[in-house]
Amino acid sequence: MDLQSIIKLDEQYYMNTFGKRTPVCFERGEGITLYDTEGNAYTDFFGGIAVNALGYGHPGLTSALTEQVQKLLHTSNLYYVKNQSLLAEKLIQHSVADKVFFANCGAEANESAIKLAKMYFYKKNQPEKSEIITLQNSFHGRTLACVAATGQEKYQKPYAPLTPGFKHVPLNDFEALKQAVDEKTAAIMVELVQGESGVHPMTKEYALDLAALCKEKDILLIVDEVQTGMGRTGTWFCYENYNIEPDIFTLAKGLGGGVPIGAVCAKAEVAASFSPGDHGGTFGGGPLATCAGLAVCEAFEKENLPENSREVGNYLKQKFVNMAENFPTIICVRGMGLMLGVVFSEPIAKKLQQAMFERKYLVGAVGDNVLRILPPLIITRSDADDFCKVLASALKSL
Ligand SMILES: *Cc1c(COP(=O)(O)O)cnc(C)c1O
Repeated sequence: MDLQSIIKLDEQYYMNTFGKRTPVCFERGEGITLYDTEGNAYTDFFGGIAVNALGYGHPGLTSALTEQVQKLLHTSNLYYVKNQSLLAEKLIQHSVADKVFFANCGAEANESAIKLAKMYFYKKNQPEKSEIITLQNSFHGRTLACVAATGQEKYQKPYAPLTPGFKHVPLNDFEALKQAVDEKTAAIMVELVQGESGVHPMTKEYALDLAALCKEKDILLIVDEVQTGMGRTGTWFCYENYNIEPDIFTLAKGLGGGVPIGAVCAKAEVAASFSPGDHGGTFGGGPLATCAGLAVCEAFEKENLPENSREVGNYLKQKFVNMAENFPTIICVRGMGLMLGVVFSEPIAKKLQQAMFERKYLVGAVGDNVLRILPPLIITRSDADDFCKVLASALKSL
């Protein structure tokens, strides 16, 4: 089927929530290369929005999934699920959490985290502690509660009245956070690097103050690691970069290496507030999704991918900084590991993304000024070198 026919079907039958998409449809991939329906090859530096941590056709993930598909897809949570237990064990071994619950995506993981935080205070006979503080320009997903948690008006306005109980404060302004906290505050939920709104890292100082405030006031700290987690920021989980310990953190994107899965991870005392029947799900933690998660974790261990993310991420970041000498339109580079944003003084991000696409490279753009880079965690220094050569050529063409 050719691209034009696919576009025609999409326009006729698919709800237009994604607008005019990049005119390409991929059929298969290998490593960090994607092949489209017309036979063109593209180098992927966007990783399906931070999802394809292992790139494409990773042998470990492919063979584990192939075997699982032939054995069993779904049984429900009425029965024990081996891969679910094994993946839970793996996540606990690598994190500060004690217990896991699996969901199907990031928003659903965040919903679970919000419910868990409320349940924690409900069971402690403090039901008045029910409000959640989040940050302006945050992104927590598309369900109704997550839209209310998300600190961006454009996602909220049409869906009023919003789920009550959320307050938003500016990032890295500790005074504002202190002012917002009151006796109703149950949890503070944050991204340590805001991804969707343009790669804005939290400062270390703010993160430490935030964690200390939560301890002092008996407030749960929820870290949304849906994007920053699973090696993306150069460690298994981004909170490691900040020397803080969340009470609850959520995962999704990279966890399944392309298979939908989400997770909420919590400290024992918090996790214990979910009793049988308090939360659930038909699909979450099924044999297939958790098989994918397990294969991703095993690849992380064998191939040291979080370390690779840090090492190649630092290398790439430094190369962007060096490029700024020849291209003064580059103001700065934000982010850590392989979650980077190149910030421009002129509104060229979309044109640059297009110029990169013409050169068969996939990247993202946020607003007019930020190029967003989220490659698979398997990239090498040589891939980074190639990328920067092409980026320089694209910049020159503008
Ligand atoms: C992508 C994202 C989500 C939403 O995840 P979905 O799988 O799309 O529901 C939530 N939080 C953050 C930080 C994200 O980047």
